[in-house]
Amino acid sequence: MIIAERKPIDELKGFIAEAKKVLVVGCRGCVTVCNAGGTKEVGLLASLLRLDCEKEGRQVQVDEHTLERQCDPEYIDELLELVEKKYDAILSMACSVGPQFIAARYPDQNVFPSLNTLFIGGALKHGAWAERCQGCGNCVIHRFGGLCPIARCAKSLQNGPCGGSAGGICEISKDVECVWHLITTKMMETGRAETDFVPVQPMKDWSSSRDGGPRTIIREDLVK
Ligand code: SF4
Ligand code: SF4
Repeated sequence: MIIAERKPIDELKGFIAEAKKVLVVGCRGCVTVCNAGGTKEVGLLASLLRLDCEKEGRQVQVDEHTLERQCDPEYIDELLELVEKKYDAILSMACSVGPQFIAARYPDQNVFPSLNTLFIGGALKHGAWAERCQGCGNCVIHRFGGLCPIARCAKSLQNGPCGGSAGGICEISKDVECVWHLITTKMMETGRAETDFVPVQPMKDWSSSRDGGPRTIIREDLVK
């Protein structure tokens, strides 16, 4: 899923500094799962903003709404009735796709991103998430024991480790495991080092990655 976290409250307060009517919009997708922008977080942020405005003696109406997803036009359309109430600021609590979709659908609205979108990853335990994929468009983890060196090596090395790997730890931080240590350990422990592991990895085809600009997928079997 996409992992995100809420922007600092001062930044959000800055977005609504001149506003009299604010709409906070959540998303029931990834950001609900990672506790950043679901119904609960929308309620919390709206309450915080109300309290803060009250403290400053400002009369600001802060409304709340959570969509099924903000990355799907059919759900964005649901906002029409609310948007017609003319908000001065819409704070989107989705990943950064959400505010872009809302701004595109309602071009005369002031839409602000309330979250910082961080990475594609998963939960290590309750309340802890880690990056696992950089969306390179041509997955090659089968060559690395199911571990992604692009997302998990600080240098995205496909022929690692580098000289900075020590005791299983990456040179960038004592808190970061060297994924190349994990890869080689796993290959040896599972007896695949001799058979499956290519000592010098072939050049990766990056044409599916971002270098050609933003990517689009068109599934002819689904397009109406
Ligand atoms: S190889 Fe590419 S697609 Fe596969 S996990 Fe790594 S970044 Fe993601
Ligand atoms: S120490 Fe390991 S994870 Fe860190 S940059 Fe070098 S090879 Fe990559």
